[in-house]
Order: sequence, then structure tokens, then C-alpha cells
Amino acid sequence: MKKTLAAAVWRVRPDPASTGPIRYVQCKECDERSVVVPAQSVGDLWAMTHSGSTGHTQYREFAASDLVTERDRRKRS
Ligand SMILES: [Zn+2]
Repeated sequence: MKKTLAAAVWRVRPDPASTGPIRYVQCKECDERSVVVPAQSVGDLWAMTHSGSTGHTQYREFAASDLVTERDRRKRS
């Protein structure tokens, strides 16, 4: 109960100083991965190049966004 009340005074939002999500693509067949960059096209190009050199065709894209917490100053009734 204490944890619930303590969390209620905070809220989470995107980090305004962040430039947006970062991404990478990982091959599901050998675990090699692309560089970490914001542009999806870089991961797509890496996957196509990786397929051309290995024959692997299964990938997973990971994307992460920066978040910040701040005190929620809204009045509660
Ligand atoms: Zn692979």
C-alpha cells in the first residue's frame, strides 16, 4: 500500500532532452546485431546485408526511448 501511494505522486513522460528512440536489429539465427542508431533504415540495411552474407532471414528489432519522472502536481480529489 505504501508503494502505491508513493508512486501516485510521480508520473513518467518522454525525456524532452532525448532525440527520439534508438534502435538496433538482431539476427535471431546467430545473435549478431546492428549498430545502435535512431534511424530504422540503418537496421534494415544491416539486415539485408547480413542476409546476403549468411543466408539468415529471421530478425528482431529493438527500440528504446528515454523517459524521465517528475512529481505530479495535479490536485487529487
Ligand atoms: Zn545471423
